[in-house]
Amino acid sequence: MSDSFDVVVIGAGPAGYPAAIRAGQNKLKVACIDEWKNRDGKYAYGGTCLNAGCIPSKALLESSELYHRAETEFAAHGIKVGSLGFDLAAMQKRKAGIVRASTTGITGLFKAAGVTALQGHGRLLRAGVVEYTAADGSKRELQAKHVVLATGSVPTALKSAPFDGARIIDSWGALELDAVPKRLGVIGAGVIGLELGSVWRRLGSEVTILEALPEFLPMADQQVAKEALKHFKKLGMDIRLGARVSGAKAAGDAVSVNYTDDKGEQTLTVDRLVVAIGRRPFTQDLLAADSGVRVDERGFIEVDEQCRTGVDNVWAVGDVVRGPMLAHKGKEEGVMVADLIADHFAEVNYKTVPSVIYTAPEIAWVGQTEQEVAKSGREYKIGSFPFMASGRARAMEAPAGFVKIVAAKDSDEILGVHIIGPMAGELIAEAVLAMEYSASTEDLQRTIHAHPTLSEALHEAALAADKKAIDFPNR
Ligand code: FAD
Ligand code: AMP
Repeated sequence: MSDSFDVVVIGAGPAGYPAAIRAGQNKLKVACIDEWKNRDGKYAYGGTCLNAGCIPSKALLESSELYHRAETEFAAHGIKVGSLGFDLAAMQKRKAGIVRASTTGITGLFKAAGVTALQGHGRLLRAGVVEYTAADGSKRELQAKHVVLATGSVPTALKSAPFDGARIIDSWGALELDAVPKRLGVIGAGVIGLELGSVWRRLGSEVTILEALPEFLPMADQQVAKEALKHFKKLGMDIRLGARVSGAKAAGDAVSVNYTDDKGEQTLTVDRLVVAIGRRPFTQDLLAADSGVRVDERGFIEVDEQCRTGVDNVWAVGDVVRGPMLAHKGKEEGVMVADLIADHFAEVNYKTVPSVIYTAPEIAWVGQTEQEVAKSGREYKIGSFPFMASGRARAMEAPAGFVKIVAAKDSDEILGVHIIGPMAGELIAEAVLAMEYSASTEDLQRTIHAHPTLSEALHEAALAADKKAIDFPNR
């Protein structure tokens, strides 16, 4: 193999592998280096997302939700089930199969795009030179006209509650449990904490989530957050806000967690503790001391809007750079960089990156919340529509939640769309497209939506912004 490439990508997560594939499609000679190893000690492409994040979590969310619905909703449909139960080992096996199909799929995609896939460690020595350490420890210098750093992120540890891999675990550990813990503690009511808490609650754990902040989901529209909290409580999750964890330690078979709330020092005893307090960018042993690439005080590689690091032809994308830690944000950055390298026009519209929380009800949004628009001083109007007024949602036995559109009062431009309810993560795509084209609520009002579909809720919310909703009284 020649050691000279147009592009070398370090990291094959959802930011790195699309960068490599697009570079290949652009007829560039490209290599992608990745060091991810699964618990079986084998290399696997796809990074956090495919191996320990988006995909396995969605597989378990789906299985546990089906079980929960069978338990709580089937009777309403007139379906009688004898004795209901589940086989966790089979659930985990299904999840592992989905992960394997996704990660091995990348090998095929690399082949099709002509990407040289290299398993092992990559390190930027200087502009144009990457050191590659293979599995056997042998080292080679690769010449690269362009280097793309896509090394992702890892779970943030809480110093006073260090991971022990058995009782105090990270999100990956929480996806691999082989028994349902009787009592599960989760530190952090962020997206990951809520999704993992939901999985195990549905399967029978007593779940307690400790969150330091006094507000629930501060990044979401507060009307959505309030509705969500109501449903999570109904599911039986004990969410304690304003509860700052100061330490935890394993004691025999249990874990004792100390936290402080407005009443003072408290203790919680659980069987497993998931620390889900966020993720930090990962740059360990990535940059030679004189590589010239700058890392900010929080550990993120510094880049401009186009993901240039400032060092000639060295780029960085995904979780390792600023912005939301989301797979689709990283993917767009990876593709943009590969196109820019090939001298094509490319950009990422950071204003329309959607956020989704895959709980039940599902939560999704794009653009500004009502609170953000109000704070900006811009005059706005709201159009909202509850799913209980949607025939399709009622037919699905899923009437919880609503669609809320925030639009500019003067121009009618859509500034944000917030959905809590069935398939919110799918429905938000229409809102993202609308905002990508700077659509107004009138544009959505004039767009035909099939009946009966959940998407009609978006249509009706757009109509409601001008008090023209048909299927719900206008206020
Ligand atoms: P990563 O996926 O972390 O990939 C980086 C890769 O680079 C890894 O394979 C790593 O081993 C490799 N690497 C690092 N350093 C080197 C080196 N020096 N040499 C060689 N290889 C190296 N996001 C969503 O959008 N939707 C979701 O539903 C979602 N769910 C999630 C659920 C969980 C439980 C978790 C933990 C995360 C979830 N995320 C989700 C976040 C998502 O996984 C990340 O945003 C995404 O994986 C970031 O992609 P990345 O390519 O930047 O980094
Ligand atoms: P996210 O960054 O979305 O993954 O969410 C992580 C959550 O963990 C945030 O809401 C933090 O406020 C919360 N958090 C961080 N440290 C602590 C702590 N010591 N105790 C309780 N919650 C915490």
